[in-house]
Amino acid sequence: MRLSRYYLPLLKETPSEAQIVSHQLMLRAGMVRQESAGIYAWLPLGFRVLKKIEQIVREEQDRAGAVEMLMPTIQSAELWRESGRYEAYGKEMLRIKDRADREMLFGPTNEEMITEIFRAGVRSYKDLPKMLYHIQWKFRDEVRPRFGVMRGREFLMKDTYSFDADQEGARKSYNKMFVAYLRTFARMGLTSIPMRADTGPIGGDLSHEFIVLADTGESAVFCDSRLLDLDVPGADTDFDGDLQPMIDRYTSYYAATEEKHDNAEFETKVAKDDRVAARGIEVGHIFYFGDKYSAPMKAVVTGADGKDRAVEMGSYGVGVSRLVGAIIEAYHDEAGCKWPVPVAPFHVGLINIKVGDAATDEASAKAYAALEGAGVDVLYDDTPARPGEKFARMDLIGLPFQLIIGPRGLESGKVEIKRRSDGHRDELSLDAAIEMLKRDVASALKV
Ligand code: ATP
Ligand code: MG
Repeated sequence: MRLSRYYLPLLKETPSEAQIVSHQLMLRAGMVRQESAGIYAWLPLGFRVLKKIEQIVREEQDRAGAVEMLMPTIQSAELWRESGRYEAYGKEMLRIKDRADREMLFGPTNEEMITEIFRAGVRSYKDLPKMLYHIQWKFRDEVRPRFGVMRGREFLMKDTYSFDADQEGARKSYNKMFVAYLRTFARMGLTSIPMRADTGPIGGDLSHEFIVLADTGESAVFCDSRLLDLDVPGADTDFDGDLQPMIDRYTSYYAATEEKHDNAEFETKVAKDDRVAARGIEVGHIFYFGDKYSAPMKAVVTGADGKDRAVEMGSYGVGVSRLVGAIIEAYHDEAGCKWPVPVAPFHVGLINIKVGDAATDEASAKAYAALEGAGVDVLYDDTPARPGEKFARMDLIGLPFQLIIGPRGLESGKVEIKRRSDGHRDELSLDAAIEMLKRDVASALKV
């Protein structure tokens, strides 16, 4: 992409309404624009990051055996009366009337709808298990939308729903999502910690929130520091095999959100030096809830004994749009964002220091074509701006690599690569630079 054709409205000043660094940087780097409280337009740069995150989430859901579909954002109130949640949900639900005065709503989540879809198509235990998911916009009229996309009112969520014949099966589905989530967040460069979370009125021990530690997080959390060093399950994980030992390893260490925290247990189980009391961002939540929806909504299957039973269900959410903010919280410095390669809006920022200089233009055009041809995403700064402005702009938007080409370097046959993550610089020939970028990007994208 040529910067001269792109739409990248950068802000010089830090907007005063933004309290945390990710929100400030998303506004300054022209990633989003607020349209109403908690409602954002995704500008081209931010949209690219959102899509990359969404794609990683999708790939790991598919790997775990979940099947993608798409449900509408608008739902009928009638459906929610079946589960009893229409009245219970309260003011967070945006209620709408259509022209025939029918009660509708903008979905805050999809348990009811997926249960209705499932019961229309599945009759026998032989059709189980099933895991279905979609990635769709949700609306929750939050009391206090804040921190930009971290707590929006309209936000993008991946939500999966599992259907099993019995509790044992439901546990297997739960474990698949547990492992898929560890992999999903790790691929984005995040260390996520599964923490025991509130199950609400249903009880049971099967609810985990996946938390990324950050000072600006909204949740108070407590865990064993050794959890931060555990290996993440590999891409070769057999999701049909026994995942329980992997889950047991993670859950053997203390980790709980504030609501589930037990200080006496924390101090007994965790050595003083390993105790982490911190703040965190909830990026995912997995939840087993049995027949909470299937019983009242009559989503039943016929068992081997010929009897009908309500299916066992679970739901599993990932905050796709919240992750954009969470990743910036983890990867930034004073100058701007520092995107990990797998979620970067572009991999390489190509800076032509002197547009109009024949040799510089030619070398830049060559690099641009060669990199794009090799599947590397390049943002080519072909504008007439001054070098200082180009460097600051590239640092702000935080592409992982900068390829800097100028007339002086070219005279001695050199261009420069700057790595945004640690500021490391290499001077090398144009051909060597192209090869190095191709190699480094490919290796960072390896799953
Ligand atoms: P929270 O406790 O942060 O309000 P929740 O427990 O109500 O979240 P879930 O219903 O578990 O949220 O939704 C699944 C995921 O969707 C959450 O883990 C979070 O990452 C994301 N999410 C929830 N609410 C918002 C929001 N208002 N803005 C952005 N992402 C959100
Ligand atoms: Mg939650």
